[in-house]
Amino acid sequence: MAGKYTFTMIKPDAVEKNNIGGILEMMNAAGFRVVSMKLTQLSAAKAGEFYAVHSERPFYGELVEFMSSGPIVAAILEKENAVEDFRKLIGATNPANAEEGTIRKKYAESMGKNAVHGSDSDENAMIEGNFFFSGLERF
Ligand code: ATP
Ligand code: MG
Repeated sequence: MAGKYTFTMIKPDAVEKNNIGGILEMMNAAGFRVVSMKLTQLSAAKAGEFYAVHSERPFYGELVEFMSSGPIVAAILEKENAVEDFRKLIGATNPANAEEGTIRKKYAESMGKNAVHGSDSDENAMIEGNFFFSGLERF
């Protein structure tokens, strides 16, 4: 059965461009409820740990550097079928392929600077939420 929770980050490019409000508006309009949320900045070591599954990929260094370059908004979101529905809402990794109405179509500028992260499975949503939030920070 699909889970009710996913994890997201508003990435440094979108925070820098003052798009936090616009992106949260799209998440709320799509029916996602905020369970946990914080503005924070990843160290390079923490960003490397978060994206460890990509450590063998050619873009890993660039990804870690970018994700630790400025503040991000981390959040746990709740909705029925959260992971799949949220991936639909954010759109394709490469904004050139993102459909109309998606967050990346509206706010992403490139494959690297693509505005938002969304978990790709229920298991990763749990791991990623636990990476940022304690039990006291969930509502
Ligand atoms: P995310 O995990 O951030 O939600 P995603 O699941 O759509 O994105 P992944 O394949 O998990 O995409 O890649 C993680 C991130 O690494 C992407 O969001 C993107 O910023 C970056 N990335 C992926 N492929 C490339 C690439 N070929 N060149 C540069 N950056 C890339
Ligand atoms: Mg991913």
